[in-house]
Amino acid sequence: MDEKLTHYPMVIGGELVPTGSEDLIEPATGKPFATVALGSQAEVDRAVKAAKRAQAEWAALSYGERSIALLKFADALEAKSDELSQLESRNAGKPLKLTTGGDIPFAIDNLRYFASVMRRQEGAAAGEYIGGYTSLLRREPIGVVGAITPWNYPFMMALWKLSPALAAGNAIVIKPAPNTPITTIELAKIALESGLPEGLINVVTGGAEVGEAICTHPDTRMITFTGSTRTGKRIAELTSPLVKRVTLELGGKAPFVVFADADIEAAARGGLLAAFMNTGQDCTAATRFYVQNEVFDAFLSRFTELTNQLKIGDPFAEDTDMGPLVSQTQRLKVSGYVEEAKQQGIAIATGGTLPEGEGFYYPPTILVEAPQAADCVQEEIFGPVVVVNRFSDEAEAIHLANDVPYGLAGSVWTSNVQRAMRMTAAMECGTVWVNDHLPICSEMPHGGFKQSGFGKDMSHYALEEFTIVKHVVFELTGDQKKAGHTVLFDF
Ligand code: NAD
Repeated sequence: MDEKLTHYPMVIGGELVPTGSEDLIEPATGKPFATVALGSQAEVDRAVKAAKRAQAEWAALSYGERSIALLKFADALEAKSDELSQLESRNAGKPLKLTTGGDIPFAIDNLRYFASVMRRQEGAAAGEYIGGYTSLLRREPIGVVGAITPWNYPFMMALWKLSPALAAGNAIVIKPAPNTPITTIELAKIALESGLPEGLINVVTGGAEVGEAICTHPDTRMITFTGSTRTGKRIAELTSPLVKRVTLELGGKAPFVVFADADIEAAARGGLLAAFMNTGQDCTAATRFYVQNEVFDAFLSRFTELTNQLKIGDPFAEDTDMGPLVSQTQRLKVSGYVEEAKQQGIAIATGGTLPEGEGFYYPPTILVEAPQAADCVQEEIFGPVVVVNRFSDEAEAIHLANDVPYGLAGSVWTSNVQRAMRMTAAMECGTVWVNDHLPICSEMPHGGFKQSGFGKDMSHYALEEFTIVKHVVFELTGDQKKAGHTVLFDF
């Protein structure tokens, strides 16, 4: 049977490298549907070498030339977006309507944004800050960037990393998550077909061992990571002795705060998407609903009613709203949190039972009034499981919203403008929405507070992450003995 499965190779220095083999499991069936190559330290060395060579030539192109090449790459991806959507849905279990209407086009938009905004880059200074000298600021590429991505948005995370990295003049060695590598491999192949230089984008597949080899390679000057807080801490540990630049986009446990003066129907509908999109495997997903006492019952009842209308099933069926979880491991982790909550006597408004049958499905689940200290409130479950809890006043809402180690995103639902302003200032997270939860765009930054990490994806802030500022100083007089020398040596 294995011989019939498509084998996905690594892409290193313009070559397809088929070494090694691991089964890839389709989340909707639980069965192998393809195999992927498996890298090691040797492939990382080869990829970094290829990237180093490509980077020097790439950085020497003018901004306009680089921009045109990246826009051409974006067009080539768009031309294959149907195929990419199908592959992403098969590999990650995402509903096809999500990959075709969301993940793939939004990721390509990100590439187009960086291909355009890079031409606007300029030094912030050119002037006589030191008397008799002119200062210039240059923004330079960092060199070879190592990127490590998670399984929940494989294609999108790959493009969030490589778009600003390449726009800034770097080359990249990217390691996708071991279970969802296909669209990252495909995009690297499409990059070559579209004319991007060999070695500019290198994909090395594998797990922690390959990730650590990328982090500790002396020639990767920066590591950009999206994944769990646990792995983020390990990456910080590995890279700090080498003083590498690092960006860490880590876990989240977003609060969704509903005040009594909010539009409850809008909040219930917004909560549905915020909680269950991508089967809840989203770092900004609403996971902790805090609802003011006066509207608690009304919100919970409408939210539960809407949740029960979700269609769960085959990612390729047109009416599917929610697909399976990405893997059996993830499903058991999610189910473990719910079983623990049951043992603690926490009520369940809907869901909470591990289904039988094939595929890694788990129903949307609403836990009710869990203690703030419970694991289901404090820890990232990363599945379709949320908690709906109460609060009495604004001070309590702020306390509860901020009372977790994470700080990636959150939302507040209210019709009171002053309250909305106070809440957005008080909530400790990188993005706060008012009267919605989830919308993001390429022009605005995405990144965490607290243990959700540091550094920004998207926006011109990301371009800054992937460049390094150099201060260049020109002496203006041409004198052999400069005025400044006499401060110390008066001869
Ligand atoms: P993970 O941390 O298990 O794995 C992420 C990547 O790191 C994978 O490619 C994995 O192979 C690699 N890795 C694992 N151990 C490593 C090591 N020791 N050294 C180097 N690399 C290593 O995360 P995951 O389970 O794939 O993804 C889910 C997590 O990602 C969640 O915590 C989620 O919140 C987070 N996430 C965050 C954002 C964000 O923008 N903040 C976006 C998406 C996902």
